[in-house]
Amino acid sequence: MNYQQVLEEILHEVKPLTLKGKVANYIPALASVPLNKFAIALKTNSGEEFFVGDADEKFSIQSISKVFTFTLALKNLEDQLWERVGKEPSGTSFNSLVQLEYEQGIPRNPFINAGALVVTDTLLSSYKNPKEELINFVRELSQNPLIDYDETVALSESEWGDRNRALCYFIKDFRNIYNDVNEVLDLYFHQCSISMSALDLVRAFGYLANAGINQATNDPIITTRQVKRINSLLLTCGTYDAVGDFAYRVGLPGKSGIGGGIVAIMPGQYVISVWSPGLNAHGNSLAGTQALELFTTKTKTSIF
Ligand code: GLN
Repeated sequence: MNYQQVLEEILHEVKPLTLKGKVANYIPALASVPLNKFAIALKTNSGEEFFVGDADEKFSIQSISKVFTFTLALKNLEDQLWERVGKEPSGTSFNSLVQLEYEQGIPRNPFINAGALVVTDTLLSSYKNPKEELINFVRELSQNPLIDYDETVALSESEWGDRNRALCYFIKDFRNIYNDVNEVLDLYFHQCSISMSALDLVRAFGYLANAGINQATNDPIITTRQVKRINSLLLTCGTYDAVGDFAYRVGLPGKSGIGGGIVAIMPGQYVISVWSPGLNAHGNSLAGTQALELFTTKTKTSIF
């Protein structure tokens, strides 16, 4: 398979779509990112890398960070985590409050904001310096010591973060947030602000395609059982209330963020990431989703 040629074909086919989406405008620091940015990066399990477009340029990974925090929480707590967060798709938008009251403050899954706040809360309980632990984990996974939080984005998130604040206080009222709400939100806003390139992302997510092993260092990150669990949850909950459409079109587990990035995993074969800041109505990258659909179609790969 000539992956480079496939990526170039896709770049050509989806480029016009990049201007059709809308940048996330409720976080001012994200609203200024040009719509015509576009990247695809691919890393195979044999270690080969391919890319097109702005694959070296850093962008705000936003909700993709929920996979890193969830991985740490699952390592730390294993099945205990499921007492505090569910494993079912929500069918509501990523920042919705509605289910929380009916379900007594137990968020549907770890990849919507409510669930991610609970996961972030567990990191505050597990570590003395959770911000440092998290960024070091991401740096180690991607083998890039320069990856960092973007303080401007984190501040902007906080200034426009009243919905997340509402979620966190509401969950705390149900006694499912243990730490100080401001500390939970500070860590959450920072995790969303992590700045990485499409290439950093395919390197960092290698463990989910490679039986839990970090390819670059051969270090075991998580067990194969945990890989199975994370990928299953990504398939059913990773792309918000458009998860059915994403699974139908792309056929891979994946995680999106409102910075316009999406990472998808073909276990045993590769990790692919896309970046195109224009979003569809569900908060997933419009051209990015199309690029992934084209990739799995052209390469005839999918988990099904
Ligand atoms: N920082 C964003 C928020 O909490 C992340 C959401 C996302 O990427 N879907 O609203």
